[in-house]
Amino acid sequence: MSLPAFKSNPTLDERQFQDRIVQLISIEKRPEDALELLSKHYRVEMPALRIGLPRGEKRALGCYVHREKTIYISNQEYLYDPYVLIHEFYHHLRNVGGKHRGTERHAKEFALSFLRTP
Ligand SMILES: [Zn+2]
Repeated sequence: MSLPAFKSNPTLDERQFQDRIVQLISIEKRPEDALELLSKHYRVEMPALRIGLPRGEKRALGCYVHREKTIYISNQEYLYDPYVLIHEFYHHLRNVGGKHRGTERHAKEFALSFLRTP
């Protein structure tokens, strides 16, 4: 299975999808539903979502652990922060941790594409 390429110029449908995701997270405060929708859209398994960071991680707002397929969010407040959640979802989508510089840049661009105002 090949993963969809990141698009910097989304179509109207994608724009509506992105708006819906942001709304689910920040306004409706349903981050798990947002993850389910994201996973369906990109045709990947849904990641698990936990509050708190795994052992050894102290500073991150969130992190993704590949072997557990789990997104960790440092505390409740960031659970409703679309940037943090979508950024970590990108790591799940690409199945990689956040140590690589290029990956971090792409995760950032991916998350920002959802938050860009029209
Ligand atoms: Zn990251």
